[in-house]
Amino acid sequence: MTTQESTYARTPNRRPKSRFYARRKVCAFCVNAAESKKSGSGDREANQIDYKNVEMLRKYVSDRYKIKTKRRTGTCSKCQRALATAIKRARFLALLPYTPNHQGVYTGTR
Ligand SMILES: [Zn+2]
Repeated sequence: MTTQESTYARTPNRRPKSRFYARRKVCAFCVNAAESKKSGSGDREANQIDYKNVEMLRKYVSDRYKIKTKRRTGTCSKCQRALATAIKRARFLALLPYTPNHQGVYTGTR
C-alpha cells in the first residue's frame, strides 16, 4: 500500500484526447441516400448535398466559415468533394459568407 502506486493508477499512461473524433463516423449523405433508396421516394431531399440548403452547409463549415475536413465530419471522399463544390457555390451566390468579417454593413464609402 504505497501512495506512489495509487497515483499511478489514477493517471494511466493514456493517449491524450484526440482533436478529432476517434470513432469512425459514417458518411451522413451516403447513409441517407441508402435509406431513401430502401424506403422509396420519401424524405429524399432531407439531407442531400445542395448549395441552396444553407442550414445543412453551415454544419460543414467552421465558425470562421472554413470548410471542415472530412476527418472531422466523417464525410466520405466522394461526398466531401460534392460538399466543397456546394459550399463554394453557396459562397459565390452570397448564401454563405467567405469570412465572418463579411457580415458588416456596406456603407457605400471606401
Ligand atoms: Zn458519402
